[in-house]
Amino acid sequence: MELNITGQTRLAALYAQPARHSISPAMHTKAFEATGTDAVYLSFDVAPEDLAASMTAVRTLGMMGVNLSMPHKMAVIPFLDELSPAAQLIGAVNTVVNEDGRLVGHNTDGVGFMRSLQDIDVDIIGKEICIIGAGGAATAIASQAAIDGVKRIYVFNRQDEFMEKFQQKAAEIAATTAADVVTVDLEADYHQLAECLKKCVLLVNATGVGMKPHDDLMPIKNGEVLHEDLAVYDVIYNPRETKLLRTAREKGLKTANGLGMLLYQGAEAFRLWTGKEMPVEIIKPLVDNS
Ligand code: NAP
Repeated sequence: MELNITGQTRLAALYAQPARHSISPAMHTKAFEATGTDAVYLSFDVAPEDLAASMTAVRTLGMMGVNLSMPHKMAVIPFLDELSPAAQLIGAVNTVVNEDGRLVGHNTDGVGFMRSLQDIDVDIIGKEICIIGAGGAATAIASQAAIDGVKRIYVFNRQDEFMEKFQQKAAEIAATTAADVVTVDLEADYHQLAECLKKCVLLVNATGVGMKPHDDLMPIKNGEVLHEDLAVYDVIYNPRETKLLRTAREKGLKTANGLGMLLYQGAEAFRLWTGKEMPVEIIKPLVDNS
């Protein structure tokens, strides 16, 4: 690999803990090369107590920006000068852009999810969707879907602290967008899932249920609730095909795993930093083989 680092080369980075397993350095460095952008991307293991100093470094070192992952997505907010409307609504930031010393926080997870639906030719604008899960991924997806014009979003999760936080978020989403958000207790009211799904064009699993090594699990009891006009999306990408996706595919439904969301959240961060489109046809094989 040829690297032409000069005095002008700029730095983008991932701050996370752990950070070393991430695909982001390979994705962005390849995209910088392919678009002739004089920049590199590195990952840094940043402990929570070092986040303040690390964010100061973004300014003092004139970094292009950073991605944030666990455990910094919410903790970073006090160190920023401004939030995008989506980051504000989601209450979490995965991308910071250094605009001449002004640090602007964005959340590109929801944008990545929405963009990835185009790959399976699923249109949810003006329609109803159902999400299982009430954590970070569910919040990003529900918020961006509402911003983009999805009509109604059903969120199923057991009634616990994730759900309580999400219910506050649902009120904010309803107050700031035209979408309705309905929350349902997945354990107590499982029977409502089939009724809600009848009105929906998309079911999203936004939990870790079905992830390796528990890939014999799925977040629904069986495939009976999956009707023929439904598409099924799983944010999990390890395994590539979860039990939920296999069940849906065997019923002839359109399916997608979380690799598209991963790819396009990166593409949106790249666009925010460089003003250029990420050449996704070059980056996609990297992500697929990660
Ligand atoms: P999170 O904030 O910790 O939320 C986890 C959610 O999953 C909660 O709603 C939790 O509900 C539910 N859950 C139920 N059973 C679970 C189990 N056995 N294991 C894990 N979660 C369970 O996590 P998150 O950031 O939303 O991430 C959720 C999933 O999305 C993870 O698999 C993550 O890898 C994936 N993800 C993918 C992308 C992508 O780009 N494709 C991006 C972000 C996240 P309870 O209240 O029932 O516990």
